[in-house]
Amino acid sequence: MSEGIVYLIGAGPGDPGLITVKGKECIEKANVVIYDYLANPKLLEYANESAEIIYVGKMGGNHTKTQDEINDIIVDYCNNGKIIARLKGGDPYIFGRGGEEAQELVKAGLKFEVVPGVTAASAATAYSGIPLTHRDHTATVAFVTGHEDPTKETSKIHWDKLSTAVGTIVFYMGIKNLPNIVENLVKNGRPKETPVAIIRWGSRPDQQTITGTLEDIVTKAREAGIKPPALTVVGEVVSLKKELDWFETKPLFGRKIVVTRAREQASDFAGRLADLGANVIEFPTIKVIKPESWANLDQALDVIDSYDWIMFTSVNGVKFFIDHLKERGGDIRDLKGLKVCAIGPKTAEAVENLGVRVDFTPKEYRAESIIEGLGAENLKGKKVLIPRAKVAREVLPEEMKKLGAEVTIAEAYVTIKPEDKKDEVRKYFENGEIDAVTFTSSSTVTNFVDMWGGAEKAKELMNGVTVASIGPITSDTAKKLGLTPDVEPAEFTTSALADALKNHFKG
Ligand code: SAH
Repeated sequence: MSEGIVYLIGAGPGDPGLITVKGKECIEKANVVIYDYLANPKLLEYANESAEIIYVGKMGGNHTKTQDEINDIIVDYCNNGKIIARLKGGDPYIFGRGGEEAQELVKAGLKFEVVPGVTAASAATAYSGIPLTHRDHTATVAFVTGHEDPTKETSKIHWDKLSTAVGTIVFYMGIKNLPNIVENLVKNGRPKETPVAIIRWGSRPDQQTITGTLEDIVTKAREAGIKPPALTVVGEVVSLKKELDWFETKPLFGRKIVVTRAREQASDFAGRLADLGANVIEFPTIKVIKPESWANLDQALDVIDSYDWIMFTSVNGVKFFIDHLKERGGDIRDLKGLKVCAIGPKTAEAVENLGVRVDFTPKEYRAESIIEGLGAENLKGKKVLIPRAKVAREVLPEEMKKLGAEVTIAEAYVTIKPEDKKDEVRKYFENGEIDAVTFTSSSTVTNFVDMWGGAEKAKELMNGVTVASIGPITSDTAKKLGLTPDVEPAEFTTSALADALKNHFKG
């Protein structure tokens, strides 16, 4: 049996981009990933598909597993020769009990390494526009636990020294104890006017910051209903937030926006929205899978030489077509002699990525302009193959047939409705938390409405929510189902849609 090893990995503060390269590599090679409440579950996507994933999160007093139990799990797996990624929020050695876990491993004679992470104090302040140190304001910074029992007779915190000796003081886990913390600081000589910030879920899209002074922060925190996990930052540097706030001032910051497109295709769009500061809820209403039967496509491929055009209408069409072509033992050379039409820039890109030149991409993605571009007169007697989903819009092939083309629609993929995130998303709607829902195709709208049990119910849920549609066809579908789009970009692309949302929410 190979020797086990435990990587104690700092998962960073929440923004999954803040994991280290080494941390990511360790997750990738792990057989077992053991993660905490504060480690962003998105990081689990780096794990090997066969890796075992274990949640040992703690939430306030509500412990899923005790520290002893966690230690036992880690030691057991490591004894079995496993590579273990032990993912802990922030940095494992800063209020993360990483030291204790390491000691257990040493005691058990097991191998371990520590991969430091971006600790909350560093990230939450950076994302909140507060530099931990600044030459004009402070030369010292301290990280302090705010979790200490205030009734404890002998404190490990020397309040008399800390209060005035250190410029910036960051309290971890100090929300419940905030009144005591403030009282101790003031009692020990820190001026009441000292600026204070409380940052909740720092570096995440739902980050929340409140600012005040030692005099009023307790009231402000109570009024804002601030709950853990949050940091309390005390010191003059807090005043720099006014000047350096780059994150909370993003145009879509604080907006919860639902992306309904298929997971495989959502990332560019979701990424663009996140760049604009949005809290993106990926709620795919479509999942793309292989069709039940390839019969139509196989028939066409058997006589592919007889076709004049192959027309791709989506990235999925390209992907599934090519995969199937290869599965049959063929490849792109079988398409020699055919002209290639790609509808939409992304589809064209997918075709070009195969090393195939696109002969025609319509300027606009409507049936009329496609036909105009191809030249109505050129379609007569021409054989056109369209590998795509069966349920797609029928206007284009019908129009081409009218002009005398022989059109074969061959099913290359099927879309289904995944239901997994429904309950979570319903709650957001019911709490009035959603700002906008984006639709990037007619089928995202129809599926979305279906998933909630029809137009009536969907409309009720969407009360007051901005409807954003990628273009006129999608908008028509939405209107027919009782959802009137508030946002529709001039250009039918997801990046234009993201920008249109930005403008919509401006001010
Ligand atoms: N090892 C972690 C700290 C764990 S202690 C680290 O290095 O960051 C848990 C406390 O960390 C929370 O109570 C809170 O005070 C703080 N914390 C962790 N993540 C945070 C975040 N994203 N925003 C604000 N505070 C956070």
